[in-house]
Amino acid sequence: MLAVAAVSATVVALARSDNGEPAAAAGTTTTTASTATSGATATIVAPTTSTTNAEPRVEWAAVPQGPARAVVTPNGVVLAVLVVNTDGTFVARTPCGGEERVTGVALAGANVVLDPGHGGDEPGAVGPAGTTEKSVNLAVAEETKRQLEALGATVVLTRTADYRITLQSRAAIVTSLQPQLFVSIHHNASPDGPRDGPGAETYAQIASAESKRASGLLYEEIVRAFSGYDIAWVADRDAGAKYRQRSDGGDYYGILNRTAGVPAVLSEAAFISNPPEEELVADPAFQAVEARAITAAVVRFIDTRDAGSGFVEPYPRTEPAGPGGGAAGCVDPPLR
Ligand SMILES: [Zn+2]
Repeated sequence: MLAVAAVSATVVALARSDNGEPAAAAGTTTTTASTATSGATATIVAPTTSTTNAEPRVEWAAVPQGPARAVVTPNGVVLAVLVVNTDGTFVARTPCGGEERVTGVALAGANVVLDPGHGGDEPGAVGPAGTTEKSVNLAVAEETKRQLEALGATVVLTRTADYRITLQSRAAIVTSLQPQLFVSIHHNASPDGPRDGPGAETYAQIASAESKRASGLLYEEIVRAFSGYDIAWVADRDAGAKYRQRSDGGDYYGILNRTAGVPAVLSEAAFISNPPEEELVADPAFQAVEARAITAAVVRFIDTRDAGSGFVEPYPRTEPAGPGGGAAGCVDPPLR
């Protein structure tokens, strides 16, 4: 409950801020307004005071009640549905990209889909103390799901445990469920050098203005949430809300390219390869802070027209992204 209350307070403050002011600014505004009305006649109702404990109302889109687009297997694996059988079973896309007949709970849509990057024998980046990116990504995604659900959202994860899943199978879940926003959660490695503050990076789909807006909002919220930590941060020289383009002009990152049509943002919140940042992201308390930042960004994306900030022009890259995401050598988890 405490965690939920903290989220609510943050979201109330952020929802009222249309210029990226820190949460404290909303409280100041409320105090000023109350003071200003205190000398007025008794018939004037003062603005909502800080003693109100009402949940913020987030205007989530109605989730369809129609045919199954995805299914959650009895052991909790989420799969895109290819065929709804008349006997109540489904033919679904497996994590490794195959087709399998399964049973489970049907999903017809979602407000938000969260994607914990990597998994199984693809750990992603590994910190010097051995912290794996796949485990941090999943923990942050699970906590973000809890926080968004407490605000009334329907939230689905592309990966729900420690198994391999291809980029195609992740994207199939996203394009099947057509959420209002899709967030792929990663943690970074190979920085250019030290930086006086968080070196967060958020990547947008090049062709989508809404994706760009989401990337700017997520960048704002992550930097705001992390700036209170006085550690030896590292970064790329062009840290910020950015993009990476393929030579043919499309999105370089497959998870953004393959989810075209759904506003998507890829988060590289901190550098797991940097010892002090590794220590932070391995800490459940910090994971909850990061989840609150993602939650706040999602709520602002849905409930405001805020533009976000931190947009940068990335310098050209020639080094390939990390390996993985394909089907070669992939072994599906149990699906029952
Ligand atoms: Zn990653």
